[in-house]
Amino acid sequence: MCYLPKFKSPFIFANFNGTSGDVDVITHECGHAFQGFVMRDEPIKEYLDITMETAEIHSMSMEYFTYGWMEKFFGERKEDYLTMHLEDSAAFVPYGCMVDEFQHIIYENPDMTPKERKEVWKRLEQEYRPHLDYEGDPFFGEGGWWQRQSHIFSSPFYYIDYCLATICAMQYKMKMDEDYKKAWESYLALCRLSARKFYVPMLKEAGLKSPFEEGCVKAVVEHFQEKI
Ligand SMILES: [Zn+2]
Repeated sequence: MCYLPKFKSPFIFANFNGTSGDVDVITHECGHAFQGFVMRDEPIKEYLDITMETAEIHSMSMEYFTYGWMEKFFGERKEDYLTMHLEDSAAFVPYGCMVDEFQHIIYENPDMTPKERKEVWKRLEQEYRPHLDYEGDPFFGEGGWWQRQSHIFSSPFYYIDYCLATICAMQYKMKMDEDYKKAWESYLALCRLSARKFYVPMLKEAGLKSPFEEGCVKAVVEHFQEKI
């Protein structure tokens, strides 16, 4: 999603290939687009200048807010999609944290050899993704997977922003399971806050807990465990 200020309009460019990934993309990008649309008449440009740990709450939460329409895409296999989506979001958090920890280690140790870097990744994988089995693949099985994570090359330390946003989006899922309308009102308030405030006070004002707050992640995990 790009915002076109001259036209006061969000614009989504995507290519679709007929998989469930198309639905992930359109609901996610429509979250970004919706927030851009809500702010279209904001004269102070700096208020539109949101950072990723905020922007990705708008998009990831929209993925949950649209659950009620999934039948239109998947018919009677709607539940399969929803289960997969919940599982993917939950499994993403440890993976995202792992990508972050990996970057901390390699930046703190710039003299590492390629082999040492792969060993770090392999060790972290055993810690964060113990369910993975590469069945002896000579490249991925030896810690090579990080090389396909483009953010490590193009946007260092972006990944932890996704994790922070995921935990907030998951809180919206919790809220909407309780009261959809109230959850939406809080979401709309968050979209309107945009970049007016810093992260933690902004979350608070919208009625979310900070992911850094003791017990926040635990509550989210318990709710999702029940759902999945
Ligand atoms: Zn996004």
